[in-house]
Amino acid sequence: MPVWRLKNAPGFRRERRSGGSMTNSTYRVSGATGEWEVVIGLEVHAQITSNSKLFSGAATDFGNEPNTQVSLVDAAMPGMLPVPNQECIRQAVRTGLAIDAQINKYSRFDRKNYFYADLPQGYQISQLYHPIVGEGIIEVQLDEKDPDSETSKIGVERIHIEQDAGKLMHDQHPTMSYVDLNRSGVALMEIVSMPDMRSPVEAGAYVKKLRSILRYVGSCDGNMEQGSMRADVNVSVRKPGDELGTRTETKNVNSIRFLQQVIEYEARRQVDLIEDGGEVVQETRLFDAERQETRSMRSKEDAHDYRYFPDPDLLPVELEDEFIEECRASLPELPDAKRARYENDLGVSAYNAAVLTADKETADWFEAMLAEGAKAKAASNWLLSELFGALNKLDKTLAESPVNPAQAAELLGLVDDGTISGKIAKDVFEIMLESEQGAAAIVEEKGLKQESDTGAIEAVIADVIAANGDKVAEYKGGKDRLFGFFVGQTMKAMQGKANPQVVNELLKKTLG
Ligand code: ADP
Ligand code: MG
Repeated sequence: MPVWRLKNAPGFRRERRSGGSMTNSTYRVSGATGEWEVVIGLEVHAQITSNSKLFSGAATDFGNEPNTQVSLVDAAMPGMLPVPNQECIRQAVRTGLAIDAQINKYSRFDRKNYFYADLPQGYQISQLYHPIVGEGIIEVQLDEKDPDSETSKIGVERIHIEQDAGKLMHDQHPTMSYVDLNRSGVALMEIVSMPDMRSPVEAGAYVKKLRSILRYVGSCDGNMEQGSMRADVNVSVRKPGDELGTRTETKNVNSIRFLQQVIEYEARRQVDLIEDGGEVVQETRLFDAERQETRSMRSKEDAHDYRYFPDPDLLPVELEDEFIEECRASLPELPDAKRARYENDLGVSAYNAAVLTADKETADWFEAMLAEGAKAKAASNWLLSELFGALNKLDKTLAESPVNPAQAAELLGLVDDGTISGKIAKDVFEIMLESEQGAAAIVEEKGLKQESDTGAIEAVIADVIAANGDKVAEYKGGKDRLFGFFVGQTMKAMQGKANPQVVNELLKKTLG
């Protein structure tokens, strides 16, 4: 049993360490009294990827029939004892390491007591006093597709592990509400940021970056529509340079668009309220997506309202160095490192490196092409323009691509070794999208091989010149732009299959 050394427990009011003004974006809300700065802090709840729940062996799959994944522990039957799932602890530690955070070798579970119909225990097991992960940092680019856009470092205050609650269903019966406990006891990480963000765009970029990191790490699928990731949005306003203002917290925001709408709405509301002589009340609010506004839900509770205390059923968690090092060794290359490597070692453009690494699936696809022998620069351009363009038209995701990385590498290989031109490669790709055929087979069958043989091209050029004596005279008289005409005629006569470089060289030589 744990020892209750309350004198060692930090007080109910935790020290707030603001990351300072590490951000330099200049988003302002204007009011009658001038410009206001918006301050944003996010508490992101991320469902930990694990087969079973935090303290029970019940499954965690999404979308199954209600109450089919509920153990006696999740239903809070008397006498049931929670047993921590090591995989959930491991994933939280890996996530902490991925954001350069302090890993707390000693952490502990607390009970947060409150009553609600979706919470059979009457308390949520969480970590208030001793979270498993301490301070970390997430580097954010305001526009993730623009390598030259502003970057900022957003502080993470902590990551703690807690249980999810069940779900009330109000649409099943005219007069009754039902409870689905499938989610009850599912493991969540709560990732609490410092109040370091200053604009809706920056908050959006932070969530995107966090989601990207979670997906790389594999600790959360980041699926906001299914509720695996949702944010409590803390917003306050102040005159630039002033102390932090009073904040409101809007709960359970489940898309980046909504997140930005909440911030814009709250900032405007608070500025108007203060300028009208009112005061912002610290409270919990709800977002109404239909009316795009937030509404007061309840006044903010303090920690003591929840009667937090260490859960007597659970021993403290102590992490050995060896376990932490194993977690570290299991991390994949993370987005920032990958992006730098693509740019510096592979010679991929800054823009391409940013877009390729923003999500792991794209980076994996790209690297699979390289493993099949494709050259980095050409592969990155082709993937982002040709493949993404085609998928867009077909309304398919990368995972549903009709062409795989090996087939793509084969196609680019034919361009690289001069077998076909870049232009013909586009036609071949069109055919590949509709048939099961490989690039080389298509080129062979349709006779699309590029002609680089100088003799054959010279013969065609001779014909073109003979047939266009007047144009030749004009060209020689100084009408330089007619050169393109001869290139066009030669290519046309060879059905686009002549090597354009060779055509150019030979024409220059012949026309003088
Ligand atoms: P609580 O424990 O009451 O939720 P915290 O101090 O943990 O309060 O803060 C919760 C979140 O609110 C954090 O993400 C933090 O960055 C953010 N926050 C704190 N103060 C402000 C403020 N004045 N304006 C905006 N966000 C804030
Ligand atoms: Mg909170």
